[in-house]
Amino acid sequence: MTESVLHAEVLVLGGGPGGYSAAFRAADLGKKVILIERYPVLGGVCLNVGCIPSKALLHMAQIIHEVDEFSRHGIQYGEPTFDLDKIRAWKESVTKTLNVGLAGLVKQRGINLVQGVGHFLTDHSVVVTGENGDSTITFDQAVIAAGSHPTKIPIFPNDDPRLWDSTDALQVDYIPGKMLIVGGGIIGLEMATVYHAFGAKISVVELMDQIIPGCDKDLVRPLHNRIKKQYDNIWLETRVHDITAQEDGLKVSFEGVGAPDSEVFDVVLVAVGRRPNGKRIDAGKAGVDVDDKGFIAVDRQQRTNVPHIFAIGDIVGNPMLAHKAEHEGKVAAEVICGMKAGFDALTIPAVAYTDPEVTWMGLTENEAKAKGIAYDKGTFPWAASGRSLSLGRKEGLTKILSDKETGRILGAGMVGPNAGELISEAVLALEMGADVDDISLTIHPHPMLSETFAFAAEMINGTITDLYVKKNK
Ligand code: NAD
Repeated sequence: MTESVLHAEVLVLGGGPGGYSAAFRAADLGKKVILIERYPVLGGVCLNVGCIPSKALLHMAQIIHEVDEFSRHGIQYGEPTFDLDKIRAWKESVTKTLNVGLAGLVKQRGINLVQGVGHFLTDHSVVVTGENGDSTITFDQAVIAAGSHPTKIPIFPNDDPRLWDSTDALQVDYIPGKMLIVGGGIIGLEMATVYHAFGAKISVVELMDQIIPGCDKDLVRPLHNRIKKQYDNIWLETRVHDITAQEDGLKVSFEGVGAPDSEVFDVVLVAVGRRPNGKRIDAGKAGVDVDDKGFIAVDRQQRTNVPHIFAIGDIVGNPMLAHKAEHEGKVAAEVICGMKAGFDALTIPAVAYTDPEVTWMGLTENEAKAKGIAYDKGTFPWAASGRSLSLGRKEGLTKILSDKETGRILGAGMVGPNAGELISEAVLALEMGADVDDISLTIHPHPMLSETFAFAAEMINGTITDLYVKKNK
């Protein structure tokens, strides 16, 4: 065991999107930064076993679906065949390109990257356990960006290689014949999209009465209607109460609406949320409060109860999204460097990269109703969008909610192919305090899916020409 003492003006624990953003911003503002990461590469879950590899695989799924869709319109290819080695190599090449890019950015900024697992020793020091033993690092200020891990259900046979979490699913070691997805949230449905395209027979089981429960039902419906034709089963309001390992597969017992008592699957993917890593870093030794679930509370400046220790990303609360973590990382670094920064973004957009994609931001209709907020609503069906029809798709929808008094945008959502690319305009509109006229009077290029955002605004102010809306006299 070796013992050396390094000192950081700013120590960042965790090299995911939140952690590296904090480290880069602090270094750009002139601080001496040490970044601690347990894995040999930066990027965390998002880059290595999350957002990026899943998108590489989802793009392949999209190609398979589009080829299949257009076989009816005069373009015929043969049945797809799958070379899993090449598929994995492609996915890994995407990840590696970004890993190398991040390593370069660390060097260019003069950040000291220390590889190993960090734990707090005191409120001014951590111990990092790496390949060459332990080293102690002292710090003036710290940013905790230690992320989260997949939730495991203790009664399931978690050691069985046929019981997967999202990391296992992204390995694409083989394509199971029959696959159950436990949890109809974003991870479950994205992985269902990939494995269905690769030929697996998919069943989804979800506790709540709809898939993606955080999202308004009208935005989820087109996705539900499409995948219910593709998948073997979607069981809602259903609980898995037992999984037993058998030679021929995992026997899953269900309790709920329409589900069988039990069924055997080749693979079960458990995607029922993620848990923060707050209890895994000895935060208590630094005096940082961690709640029972492992979350660390912070104020608007990302400060924990210990004034010189900040926390960002999944560990401070939901939603557990890379773009939230990155924003928080910059805020923490700027506050540390004496700038007047705070987390005052009005919304954090959400995107499910399913087929069709589902996305939303700001106020949802469910929230508006629950809080008694008066709103106007404009929805534009993509069945009237020339661009959507030319993609062979007509199930999409764009929705805007606006303030009944002022016309200001309160919330928006879209469902359809590439819908995720459209939400940023809505986010900007919300942040800029735009109203429906601002949107409808902005010339959108034709024929683009982005037009549907302006059309939804026109639906609210009654000026739409691309549809006929009967006036109430
Ligand atoms: P999630 O919370 O989005 O979804 C989990 C789902 O599982 C929920 O619908 C929940 O009702 C259901 N569920 C919980 N327990 C269950 C049980 N015992 N049986 C059946 N259903 C059950 O969680 P996730 O999909 O695991 O994703 C984890 C986190 O990662 C989320 O914060 C998510 O937003 C984030 N993420 C985001 C993206 C993206 O932005 N595209 C992609 C992947 C993950």
